[in-house]
Amino acid sequence: MNDNEPNLHGIGMTSARTRERLVNRLRESGIKSPRILDLMRMTPRHYFIDEALAHQAYDDTALPIGHGQTISQPWVVARMTELLIEKGVPEKILEIGTGCGYQTSILAALGTQVYSVERIRPLLDQARKRLSALGYARVQLKHADGGFGWSAEAPFQGILAACGRPDIPEDLLNQLADGGRLVMPIGEREQQQLTVVDRVGDDFEVTRLDAVRFVPFQRGIMK
Ligand code: SAH
Repeated sequence: MNDNEPNLHGIGMTSARTRERLVNRLRESGIKSPRILDLMRMTPRHYFIDEALAHQAYDDTALPIGHGQTISQPWVVARMTELLIEKGVPEKILEIGTGCGYQTSILAALGTQVYSVERIRPLLDQARKRLSALGYARVQLKHADGGFGWSAEAPFQGILAACGRPDIPEDLLNQLADGGRLVMPIGEREQQQLTVVDRVGDDFEVTRLDAVRFVPFQRGIMK
């Protein structure tokens, strides 16, 4: 296999049966949208992680991706995506925390314009290669501190952050379009709550949902 080409036809751990087992598990844990379940089935999660961990790619767990970061648990990715598109697929989505690019590819597969920001340069570079090899050429990626959003491209109808902190950065609220929705884990380092913020004019309606555990939303960038 050429290094630049994704191995989408793996055997065993990446088989249709293994993926179907994950989809069944997601369904049992409350993911209802057939569209989300299809996205979870077709996305090659094994392609976003180290080969040594590929046998765990379709388990419903977070896995290390280097630099102290993790690829999110499939249930969390499915749940956040489901919440983000509940009222319709947002025209423009801002993602904070590209990581390995797995969640990014799921957002891109919705057929919408995705902007994704990552603070750790090597993770972003690798995600860029993977996303382009999979054909997601429209995704825009930026090496920056996502706490400031992406003002040049604002407003966004959808904003999703894959890292937690106790408060919502003001820039993200300002860059949320009227009628738009932000989904992010809010809380302390050890545990957060999946939080949905709906913007209605200058009002922000906050709904707190499931208990989750994410890596921290950090400040500044890393080369
Ligand atoms: N979306 C990934 C999850 C990656 S983990 C997935 O599909 O699995 C969360 C990511 O957020 C990490 O890569 C971390 O480096 C990044 N991150 C944390 N704080 C950030 C910030 N202020 N700006 C941009 N990225 C940030």
